[in-house]
Amino acid sequence: MAEGTAPIVDVLVVGGGAAGVAAAVAAARAGVSVRLIESNGTLGGFGTSAEVSTVCGLHLRTLDGPAQWSMGGFPREIGERLRARTGLGAVRYHEGLTFLPYAPPDLAAVLDAVVAEHAITLSLHTTLMSLARHGEVWRATTLAWDHQETIDARMIVDASGVAWAAACAGAEIQPDEERQAPAIVGTVAGLPTQDAFALRTWLLKECVRGLRDGTAPAGVGSLSVVPGSEHAGTARFKLGLPVRVIGDADEPTMLERAARRALADAVDWLRTLPGMDALRLIGVAPQLGLRTGRRALGEVVVTGDHVVAAAGHPEGVARGAWPIEHWTTGRQPMLRMLPLGAACEIPAGALIAKGVPGLYLAGRVISANEEAIASLRVIGTCLGTGYAAGRLAAGAVRGEERAATVAALRAEQVEGGLG
Ligand SMILES: Cc1cc2nc3c(=O)[nH]c(=O)nc-3n(C[C@H](O)[C@H](O)[C@H](O)COP(=O)(O)OP(=O)(O)OC[C@H]3O[C@@H](n4cnc5c(N)ncnc54)[C@H](O)[C@@H]3O)c2cc1C
Repeated sequence: MAEGTAPIVDVLVVGGGAAGVAAAVAAARAGVSVRLIESNGTLGGFGTSAEVSTVCGLHLRTLDGPAQWSMGGFPREIGERLRARTGLGAVRYHEGLTFLPYAPPDLAAVLDAVVAEHAITLSLHTTLMSLARHGEVWRATTLAWDHQETIDARMIVDASGVAWAAACAGAEIQPDEERQAPAIVGTVAGLPTQDAFALRTWLLKECVRGLRDGTAPAGVGSLSVVPGSEHAGTARFKLGLPVRVIGDADEPTMLERAARRALADAVDWLRTLPGMDALRLIGVAPQLGLRTGRRALGEVVVTGDHVVAAAGHPEGVARGAWPIEHWTTGRQPMLRMLPLGAACEIPAGALIAKGVPGLYLAGRVISANEEAIASLRVIGTCLGTGYAAGRLAAGAVRGEERAATVAALRAEQVEGGLG
């Protein structure tokens, strides 16, 4: 279609990760027109492309009894659909932390199905390049596979994971704090044991021994088994790169190459250990996982103290239940737990860009400081903030009072459907 002749879309969602899918569904359910654009060929963002493989944040931290949902509404719906598809229940890990294991194609399939069930125009292989304001309307220029396209939209939801839409829109960006250490996930086959505990203990013991006697490559210092990923002699291994990320243009290439090399070296070394000669690296995630990145400033900035206090908020529209998991240069993250059975409320203001009307923030790019995002970036929470951002954008299109939208979101995600 020629430039300017396409109908104006009510809500344009940039990025088809957990947050973007949730935002698109929320807007569609609110009855407005929605376009969802995603650079990759698969939905799920890091949840699929970095093969994260465990959904955190959907459950409260509890020491016993059945796992308890941290949010009702869409996050719980996706959790239930994922469980039904994988046949796997919630896993309780150390200190009562509870997550849902999944294989990346399962998450992609669940998100794909939910998008297909709604009136959402999905464009894969479509990348937002620029954004400009023309009166009341945003004009987005995209690269759609191999050609340029223009999309006019009333509201934008930035679910890009890197705040690219916000940067294009001239939104104020959060002052740079230290970014967290990245990690790469690969799949190994030929493991002699299926016992998860035995595998984890063996790996830790051998890596410590190998580092101590100088036979192991340094990378094994941050090698671990992705919990719940063990299946028929295979498992996913995660290797952290204990480096300080600064965010310059050459860094992604350098980090990707270093991580892939370190993972291959680690598996090559493990193969030399007794009984491990069948061990092979049979797959590596398409993308290195960068834990945090650029975020825009919202009306409110959520802080780490708000998260660990499990604080409420009169405009709370989603809940965060995962601890602050701050990865720096060590083998383990620095953890700050929320109280048992508790979650913080994420205010609507953290999802509304400060001083840029018509721009909403979802998932990894919400307005939060580095400590808070070390908790709120997990997939379960991104489903909640994504849904809320999409619903707020749709409410604005419909001319709804903000208080009414907030009340609807509270009833769906914050107060309803728990337990
Ligand atoms: C190493 C690592 C381990 C993790 N472990 C866990 C874990 O165990 N459990 C857990 O729950 N979470 C974990 N996380 C966090 C979680 O995976 C992410 O924070 C979460 O998936 C973010 O979701 P999102 O939708 O906000 O963003 P993303 O997943 O980053 O999705 C953003 C999407 O936007 C697309 N995009 C970007 N720019 C554009 C553009 N210009 N135009 C169009 N599309 C664009 C991208 O292709 C991407 O698909 C981990 C993260 C990392 C890096």
